Amino acid sequence: MTMLLTYKYRLNPEKRQHRALERILEQQRQLYNAALCERIECYRKTGKSISEVDQSRSLTQIRADDPAFALVQRRIQRGTLKRLDRAYKAFFRRAKEGAGASSGFPKFKGREHFDGFAFDAFAQITFKDGGLWFAGMPGKLRINLDRPLPETPHEKTGEMGVWIKNVWFKREGLIWYVGFQVPAPVRENRNGLGKGAIGADWGTSVLAHLSSGEIVPNPRHGEALAQDLARTQRSVSRKAKGSKQRLKARRHLQAVQRKIANRRRNSLDKLSARLVKNFGTIAIEDIAVKGLMDAERPGETLPEFVKTRRNREVLDTAPYLLRQMLTYKAQREGATLIVVPSTNTTQECFWCGGLHFKELTDATHVCTRPGPYFNLKAPRKLNAARVILKRALACVPAPLRGAGRNAPIKNHRGGPVPGGLSGSSPVVRNARTSARRPGNTEAEQSAPGRRGVETPPLPHARGRDPKVRGSPGW
Ligand SMILES: [Zn+2]
Repeated sequence: MTMLLTYKYRLNPEKRQHRALERILEQQRQLYNAALCERIECYRKTGKSISEVDQSRSLTQIRADDPAFALVQRRIQRGTLKRLDRAYKAFFRRAKEGAGASSGFPKFKGREHFDGFAFDAFAQITFKDGGLWFAGMPGKLRINLDRPLPETPHEKTGEMGVWIKNVWFKREGLIWYVGFQVPAPVRENRNGLGKGAIGADWGTSVLAHLSSGEIVPNPRHGEALAQDLARTQRSVSRKAKGSKQRLKARRHLQAVQRKIANRRRNSLDKLSARLVKNFGTIAIEDIAVKGLMDAERPGETLPEFVKTRRNREVLDTAPYLLRQMLTYKAQREGATLIVVPSTNTTQECFWCGGLHFKELTDATHVCTRPGPYFNLKAPRKLNAARVILKRALACVPAPLRGAGRNAPIKNHRGGPVPGGLSGSSPVVRNARTSARRPGNTEAEQSAPGRRGVETPPLPHARGRDPKVRGSPGW
């Protein structure tokens, strides 16, 4: 079993190669804009749209007329036309779904907004000895191979090797990267192998509360670099538009933004990797990030600066990115990710299943229903994480849960986590027993859509770690 992942590496181009990359990029930008112009004109004149195939065909004519075009790989130019086609298709898909009439129509790209190009297939390019060769690129383009590409058996012959499906190049600031889309091995499903299950509740003040009791702190990388960010942003806006100084300042700004994004991704990568390695089943809540941001909770009117701060915190924890990472990593490692409805996860009682309403400020959950659980207390977020786990386990058949013999949670170096839970987990046991107890499941049953194991769309996360989409996220 394999799945397609993209591995991203830094390139180490020589000066002349750097110039060649920039030249190819600029040509692709012009091609993109010209092709977009042609599509718009054609529609205006004839009322018909021109297809990618038609445009690819006319490449032959352009290449014959313009020697500069003939110097660049045809596959790259086709890749650019494909990219425009994807942008068109995405626009029509959104329009169908009822977005605004002009929202997301493909734009003409300025120099500052066009940062990459791709081959339309992995052909007429050679990957050998840690470098790439292709027409239009002088010499061997060296790659910083900090980790190997995965070897898998060939689809037809069964021969072991690295079978690259696609390749793209991307400029981030002044640095060039290459992405390889390759089939990567997928581990057997590990459910029921005693790997245990865990529930996680994302927060803004901390990154996550786990049902094991562990609290994963929020690294707040964005905040640490917020001053740098503000300074460089001011610097850009002071420079005249289109000037060289502005471009330079913008590069600085991009460097800061990249730093923030890299740090954030790094901590999310570590957390998601640790969860899928240590647990067979991971339960998370289905939160709408949009709703989390901007949201004025009922009955409160927030000053603008509080909203800004809250938004920044949500962006800093990046729950969406984390979910994407968990999705593909769980698939790769044979773990199961279960996304449960988020209705009332804070109000529902983990013990009795009833709803105990609490204020936002209440940090502690207390069971108020008379009975065996009366007056039991737990931190609010821990209760939520346990409820999430309980909901998830309720939709997994018992033999597959693998709960009860929880593996000790380890950090990325394989060592124990301070404060982390080890050995048998009372949390998981409780979740199972209480889920089975009749009469306490009415809250769960009223929760909308006790869906089964979700298979979300392919994620689209960027980062050092492989990701599932082939495109560099243009
Ligand atoms: Zn209760």
